Amino acid sequence: MAGSRQATDLIHAGESRISGAVAMPIFQSSTYLSREGENYHDIGYIRLSTTPNHRALAEKLSVTEGSESALVFASGMAAVTTSLLANLAPGGHLLIGACLYGATHSFVHELLGRFGLRFSVIDINAPDAWASLLTPETRVIYTEAMTNPLLEVADHRAVVDFAREHGLVSMIDNTFASPVNFRPCEIGYDLSIESASKYLNGHSDIVGGTVAGSEVHVSKIKYYLDYLGGSMDPHQCGLLHRGLKTLEVRVHRQNDNALALAEMLQAHPKVVRVNYPGLVSSPWHERAASLFSGFGGLLSFEPDTNMAGASVLVEALQIPIVAPSLGGVESLITMPVKTSHAGLTSEARQAIGVSDRLVRVSVGIEDKDDLIADFEQGLARVQGHGH
Ligand code: PLP
Repeated sequence: MAGSRQATDLIHAGESRISGAVAMPIFQSSTYLSREGENYHDIGYIRLSTTPNHRALAEKLSVTEGSESALVFASGMAAVTTSLLANLAPGGHLLIGACLYGATHSFVHELLGRFGLRFSVIDINAPDAWASLLTPETRVIYTEAMTNPLLEVADHRAVVDFAREHGLVSMIDNTFASPVNFRPCEIGYDLSIESASKYLNGHSDIVGGTVAGSEVHVSKIKYYLDYLGGSMDPHQCGLLHRGLKTLEVRVHRQNDNALALAEMLQAHPKVVRVNYPGLVSSPWHERAASLFSGFGGLLSFEPDTNMAGASVLVEALQIPIVAPSLGGVESLITMPVKTSHAGLTSEARQAIGVSDRLVRVSVGIEDKDDLIADFEQGLARVQGHGH
């Protein structure tokens, strides 16, 4: 557990106080003075992630994640795709969780095959069945901290044990938890990936990605990043650097707000189901409590109405903004049927438990009472009939 030190490190780690500057300056220089005999991957150049901004962020992130090393990317997907490609060779095989972020799902299902790679889907709740899916070419097991939009929590300790037993590289997309609530490297994951566009930056004004892990794993990924080119630019680095300083404060507030809202919704007569691992009644609560130090800012719920009624509710809310993405200071709200899961048939959605009336909320840092009052007034407009 990182404990209270994390809040201090988020502010002070990696700060070079260049020329006495208290805030990290943005080094808007693509190239740097050469040093005699320097290795290509160490040359000072933005694409090679070697500028002062990249180095400062890597230091701050590795301390925050409790890892030996860290690296930043132009987007969360650059982090995901570069990390997967760096750890798989033609003929290679990986195990993936059934419910992954949409673009990761599409990358694995639609594109990896073109590079001669294969995959098998694991049930995150059935570790005993995973071994039957192994092939001699299996190299990676890939999961997410919590699933979207139902917030299910995999048995991450079982993933780590399984990876060790079978010599696999274990990777987790930790975006939904953030390193404030969960530090996967501390329980033995080889690589923790985040979309920095969400909680890490926290202000919905950049896209970015990060990877944390051992020096050996991260430098292997950097080697690929240096050629694939999905590097973070210095301005993006500067914004992420600033955002990270308040990560701990923001996430704690989001944890508190989300729990309060989940409890209010659960007790509301016009709500039939709430998905939030912080609720004691959640089937994932015990596991989440044993892994996470907070339950996060995301929740989903089903109002007692149909899809049109849920839309009325979403439109009636004054505070949350109807927009995709998550993890910013402002509350955002979506209906997965219209966004992340729009491409699936109604039957396919039902099969994975995503009903047409499901509403997902990324809870921000607004005042808790204001948020609750807003959901109360929104629900008052719902014509409950169930179905
Ligand atoms: N992983 C998760 C869980 C996400 O929610 C997202 C974006 O929504 C990504 C990865 C991709 O991140 P980015 O949009 O920064 O490429």
